[in-house]
Amino acid sequence: MNKKIKWIQSIHFKIPMLFIFMLLVSLQIIGAYFIRQLETKLINNFDTQMSLNLRFLENSLQPVLIDGDEELKESSIQNILQDYIGGDFLEIRVVDDRGYILGTNDQTRQSMIGLKSTDRDVQQAMLLQTDRKYQYLNDDRNSRVWKTVSPIFTTDNTGELIGAIVMESNIETVYSQIMDIVTIFLNASVFAIVITVLLAVIISRGLTRPISEMRTQTANIARGDYSGKVMIYGNDELGQLADTINDLSSKVKEAQETTEAERQRLDSVLKHMSDGVLATDRRGRVIIINNRALDLLDLTQEEAIGKSIMNVLHLGNTFTFRQLLEIQKELILYPTGEETDENILQGEFSVIQRETGFISGLICVLTDITEQEKIEQERRSFVSNVSHELRTPLTSVKSYTESLQEGAWKDQEIAPAFLQVITTETDRMIRMITDLLHLSRMDQGMPQLELEFVSMNDLFGHILDRFEVMFSSEQYRDRNYKIIRDFTQRTLWVEVDQDKMIQVIDNIMNNALKYSPDGGTITCRLMETHNSIVLSVTDEGLGIPRKDLQHIFERFYRVDKARARSMGGTGLGLAISKEVLTMHGGRIWASSIENKGSTFFISLPYEEFEEEEEEWG
Ligand code: ADP
Repeated sequence: MNKKIKWIQSIHFKIPMLFIFMLLVSLQIIGAYFIRQLETKLINNFDTQMSLNLRFLENSLQPVLIDGDEELKESSIQNILQDYIGGDFLEIRVVDDRGYILGTNDQTRQSMIGLKSTDRDVQQAMLLQTDRKYQYLNDDRNSRVWKTVSPIFTTDNTGELIGAIVMESNIETVYSQIMDIVTIFLNASVFAIVITVLLAVIISRGLTRPISEMRTQTANIARGDYSGKVMIYGNDELGQLADTINDLSSKVKEAQETTEAERQRLDSVLKHMSDGVLATDRRGRVIIINNRALDLLDLTQEEAIGKSIMNVLHLGNTFTFRQLLEIQKELILYPTGEETDENILQGEFSVIQRETGFISGLICVLTDITEQEKIEQERRSFVSNVSHELRTPLTSVKSYTESLQEGAWKDQEIAPAFLQVITTETDRMIRMITDLLHLSRMDQGMPQLELEFVSMNDLFGHILDRFEVMFSSEQYRDRNYKIIRDFTQRTLWVEVDQDKMIQVIDNIMNNALKYSPDGGTITCRLMETHNSIVLSVTDEGLGIPRKDLQHIFERFYRVDKARARSMGGTGLGLAISKEVLTMHGGRIWASSIENKGSTFFISLPYEEFEEEEEEWG
């Protein structure tokens, strides 16, 4: 829409136009009536005046026509008519009762005197014996002419027709008078229109100014600018409207602020939620997604917003959006859509529905259940592991016992061997159950550490001494185990639970022996870094395959189950060690090269122990 049309449609334009239109209509009506009345009046006046003249002339002519000497008649008439030359009179003719022209005041038409008049008006007036008057357009003179034909009668009782007077007068003056008045009227009208337009412009401005101010203010409100106020010019309807707009502005502002605060609150709730949240429109396109959901799905805001929830959650192959709306239960989801995904999510869906039942969107709450699933998985495998681990020794105990029952006890050679097996298996079960109890206590956070400052050099040294003594025993002598100590010179004081730490180091040393069947050198190191001490045990045994390295600290995990079991292992030693070190704020890990050997590391937090200068008096 262009500006011109807008202006034409504006009140600014319409009000003056309305005023002008109304004024023109009234002027038209008044003017038409006035001019018509004026014309009638002026013509009547003219007619009256002419009639007066006619009567006067008639009075003058009557004696001449009745008694006048025939000889002098013409000149007497001519004399009388002389007085009527000029003014509005164009021509005055006098005819006798037979229709012969007796005189005319028109000098150019003196030749007509004595001739019979051909004027039909004269004949008619004399015949009907009444006046005849009318206006006509005289082509010769090119003007409007007022023609009066009046029969003349004798003054006595007989009232005999003695002639007629034809009087033609110029009525143009009346019309020019009318024209003058019309001109004055038109001028006055133009003046009135100008004044009206000016007034209308002022009035319409008075109306449109507050209206356009209100329009600007409402446009500002629509844009979200509530700072302005509409001026109130009076207590009329417009003033009240302005007041209402100001009121509306402040109400909208308040409502906007509340909505904004609400939105911010929702934003911050969504932002800090530990669950992921997605909201879609009714077509399933994502319109809101919080940071947690982006993290869980490994997406950016741009990758998610506006996309279909079916693609974002990789559900497109399993469901349609309609089915998703109807789904009542939680779904297990995978961030990449692959079931092999390490992370597992749980999605809970709820439909956003209006009171009318119209579905306006879907909300999905995502929870990371990876850890939960892992724990659940671990719990399941733990129970099955324990059952399995106990079942094997129990089965062999049972079969040996049965053999003994069936008579083997009588055999002097077999019976002790069988009993030895039963004892070994029972011992292993007891060890396993003791270990499990240990672990279970640690799981429940039961055992408090009995911390004391110990020199790690001494502690480790003593354990190794014990092993060296053991190596010199008959059982180990042939296997040529050798221990190399590589200790730092500094004495490292750490605060540990001595018994538990001995248990850990024992376990590592025992493993080094167990899994180095051909003997070999066991290198034991003790060193320090700026904030920890590191203790390591390196053997030259079988080593641990890379894929198993990260699992050996799990409960019941063994690289080679059969062999480990035959070595009397429970599969719990390293798991217990890990728990002990976690309790100490330390760490345990391993590195290994298959068939070359393994190194187990233990680190413990360490602060340099400042020996106080002891001053004795
Ligand atoms: P186990 O009682 O079976 O030794 P651990 O928890 O002590 O249980 O050890 C778990 C598994 O780690 C062992 O079964 C073994 O397969 C592997 N392992 C531990 N230490 C060594 C080592 N020094 N060399 C090779 N494999 C080892």
